[in-house]
Amino acid sequence: MRDKNLSAHTLQMITERVGYFPGHVNIGMVIGNSGAILIDSGLDTQTAKKIKKGLDAIAQPLCAIIQTHAHADHFGGNAYLLGCWPEAQVYAPPLEEAIIRYPILEPIYLNMGAEPLADLRNKFLLGQASRVDHLLPLEGTIEIDGVEFSILSLPGHSWQQAGVVCDDICFAADSYLGEEVLEKHKLPFLVDAHETLLSLNKLKDTSYRGYLPGHGPYITSPIETLNKNIEWHRRIYSVIEEILEEEGTLEEALALLCERLHITMENASSFVLFRTAFMGYLVGLQKEERVVYRFVQNRWLWSKTLANNQDGAEGDER
Ligand SMILES: [Zn+2]
Repeated sequence: MRDKNLSAHTLQMITERVGYFPGHVNIGMVIGNSGAILIDSGLDTQTAKKIKKGLDAIAQPLCAIIQTHAHADHFGGNAYLLGCWPEAQVYAPPLEEAIIRYPILEPIYLNMGAEPLADLRNKFLLGQASRVDHLLPLEGTIEIDGVEFSILSLPGHSWQQAGVVCDDICFAADSYLGEEVLEKHKLPFLVDAHETLLSLNKLKDTSYRGYLPGHGPYITSPIETLNKNIEWHRRIYSVIEEILEEEGTLEEALALLCERLHITMENASSFVLFRTAFMGYLVGLQKEERVVYRFVQNRWLWSKTLANNQDGAEGDER
């Protein structure tokens, strides 16, 4: 029985009405007055079918889906679930909702705004489109089916990612990764490392009863995991700075970073994900004035800011 409870997509209850379906992507579940409210819906129809079974087993129709952010693995199950329960309402943060309604935007931005290559049109990057009925507030509370949810703004991993809190349980989306997942991913996906770190520090100041990330285990004291995530991003910052002691293009520096992190990019999907994440780290470093760029012979060259490594070179630094 115990083993069965731990298996993927088997509903785990945390409080009387709050639980989750564990899996590659954890899916939160809250029982409202007239049915279940999901937090994200998983990657695809296959996952969604298991979620439907789980809801049928507790005799709860779906009444709403709250999206934390617009990555295909978090909303790809909507199409099937909304087909089963057409009345269910979908909630998503601003900006993220646009991508959920027009999922082609994800491979478009990953392909630097150009028409996505055929290789980028797979279910991991291009989820099935879903309607979005309501915008979530960026921060604040919202009542859905008689249940009060607090929304936390946790940008960084995506632009307007939302954390969702109900009954003191925090569904933290991909603001942090479970420790094993972090080690597996090596270079976590993000669009702005600076915002990612601010969101991690914001979570460190909270003391909810429990925390569930999109990828990783449910835990009651997240400090160690949050610190590990913070250290991980800071370490990547330092490695990038070391690499950029020698000026290089984004792709040259990315290749060196992957070498240092023991990452092998073998297809277009993983390349564009890592390239975007790398740009997200550069954006963060640039915001902290730790890297600069210039254009030489039609090349966009990045380097570590000199003031940081040449002690008092400019005289103004202290
Ligand atoms: Zn994500």
